[in-house]
Amino acid sequence: MKIICIGRNYADHAREMNAPIPEFPLFFLKPDSAILPKRTSFYYPEFTKDLHYECEVIVRINKLGKNISKKFAHTYYNEIGLGIDFTARDLQEECKVKGLPWERAKAFDGSAVICEQFISKSELDLGSISFHLLKNDQLVQQGNTKDFIFSIDTIISYVSQFMTLKIGDILFTGTPAGVGPVNIGDTLRGYIGEKEMYALKVK
Ligand code: MG
Repeated sequence: MKIICIGRNYADHAREMNAPIPEFPLFFLKPDSAILPKRTSFYYPEFTKDLHYECEVIVRINKLGKNISKKFAHTYYNEIGLGIDFTARDLQEECKVKGLPWERAKAFDGSAVICEQFISKSELDLGSISFHLLKNDQLVQQGNTKDFIFSIDTIISYVSQFMTLKIGDILFTGTPAGVGPVNIGDTLRGYIGEKEMYALKVK
């Protein structure tokens, strides 16, 4: 399976990164080895001094597809979850400045936190999913899918022009404003509405 991540899908996050609003979905991949195996502990990597959380709504693909039309994109997923796109911000900045690929900053082991339980999309209003992240019980990120620049269906249609989507692939839909650093000892808890989707400790 693969993990497809969208960059800059919220205008407020694009602004905080001093980056323009994209004209089409920007995406990059994480390998399956990026999935945090034990969802309760994350070990701070030695190669970064500026690790950031990015809390994101995630989507599990449940049907094989290529060149999916936007009209039928909703038939390719049933479950919505929440994840963290951990980012080594210092390495990412270096990659951006030098025009290098982002994998060192985004695709490392443990960089993809995926909730254990997903929520059936029939239980949610996909156009208005509110979610938030607590760091040490303080609210640090709050988002709503109504603020997406590109909808889930638009992203699926767009990405599937370039790569086949497979059953079990995970789509990270981008992070809202409020990204920031984590330190050893921090606790991160993500919520969709009032439902806790993950809780993990940085070690
Ligand atoms: Mg992200």
